[in-house]
Amino acid sequence: MDHLCPVCNGLVALKQACSRCGNRLDDAGRLYDFYGDYSPYREIDDAKMDNGYPDRQKNQCLHTGWCPQCHASEMVIVQEWTPDRLNAQKDAHQ
Ligand SMILES: [Zn+2]
Ligand SMILES: [Zn+2]
Repeated sequence: MDHLCPVCNGLVALKQACSRCGNRLDDAGRLYDFYGDYSPYREIDDAKMDNGYPDRQKNQCLHTGWCPQCHASEMVIVQEWTPDRLNAQKDAHQ
């Protein structure tokens, strides 16, 4: 069953704070879109990611967060939702 990213689907906004200034990051799009599908993630060399990158198997969507205050960008991992949860959320908004 496919999982869906609530941020890509416009249901929720990114909720990650900038690691430098604490401002809320804007969503600058999916990381895959930002770097291209086959590019190495060369700009992201963070000790936190020693375990390797999360992938579709973990139902996580990688976004690029951009801080409008200090113009930094960083990776934001969004946990994807099941279709059931997504539909429930859509119904709640109607
Ligand atoms: Zn997404
Ligand atoms: Zn910032």
